[in-house]
Amino acid sequence: MAYDPNNIFARILRGEIPCNKVYEDDHTLAFHDIHPQAPVHVLVIPKGAYESMNDFSERASDAEIAALFRAVRKVAGMVGVDAEGWRMLANVGANGGQEVPHLHLHVFGGRRLGPMLTKPVA
Ligand code: 5GP
Repeated sequence: MAYDPNNIFARILRGEIPCNKVYEDDHTLAFHDIHPQAPVHVLVIPKGAYESMNDFSERASDAEIAALFRAVRKVAGMVGVDAEGWRMLANVGANGGQEVPHLHLHVFGGRRLGPMLTKPVA
């Protein structure tokens, strides 16, 4: 599927929609999720036009891939969850429950997060 340049995170990257920024570098932007599902819920995204982990892992440069994962760790430290533990999660495609078609890594923390999957699969 072709990347949709008008998805909400592409618009945030272009500055058309505001975000509550946590961190930014040449390849990566991190901001608080608008509907947090934990006391800490930050989204870390690559600045490049990648729909999901599928095309990111195939097309992104080594520098972009390293920057994304280094940013996730940096963000966890910046928002103060690294000592007590946290979770990184990426939804991919329909079965993964991905709603926004621009790769994003969720960073959750601030409470016991419980099991990874809570609802039985239909
Ligand atoms: P997904 O289900 O695609 O993995 O997660 C998409 C996430 O993006 C959701 O947690 C949702 O709350 C968040 N989100 C959707 N629109 C916006 C927005 O305009 N701003 C921010 N900060 N987060 C958003």
